Amino acid sequence: MSNTHNGGCLCGEVRYVVNGPLRDVVNCHCGQCRRTHGHFAAYSAASLGDFKLTNSGSLKWYQSSAQARRGFCSVCGASLFWASQGDDYIAIAAGTLDQPTGLRTVAHIYVADAGDYYTIADGVETYPGTMRESGSGDR
Ligand SMILES: [Zn+2]
Ligand SMILES: [Zn+2]
Repeated sequence: MSNTHNGGCLCGEVRYVVNGPLRDVVNCHCGQCRRTHGHFAAYSAASLGDFKLTNSGSLKWYQSSAQARRGFCSVCGASLFWASQGDDYIAIAAGTLDQPTGLRTVAHIYVADAGDYYTIADGVETYPGTMRESGSGDR
């Protein structure tokens, strides 16, 4: 399978390409992700060196915490990216990737902050907060 992955927002004004491996998907249930995505967030991730914006005229960044910001399309409102200062990777909303992604969901994080209107029952590993073992959790 090719190691090139394309993706973009609903309207197409934001498009990106990843020339390298994508991390498997981690679902983040924190309150910030829920408010940004309207539900929990499913994030893949890529090394910054492998990631390139190919169309970004409508991309805006919202500083969502002291160290993190979230990229969204100012035309269609899609939430696409999460990036933390000093990290060498960018988290990419998995639903914005063109299919097939070849990915699978490997963890739920921040389940202590999960919404009270759904149940996490897919058998995938859960963490109350970040994934400390790998140090790659989102916030
Ligand atoms: Zn858009
Ligand atoms: Zn989150």
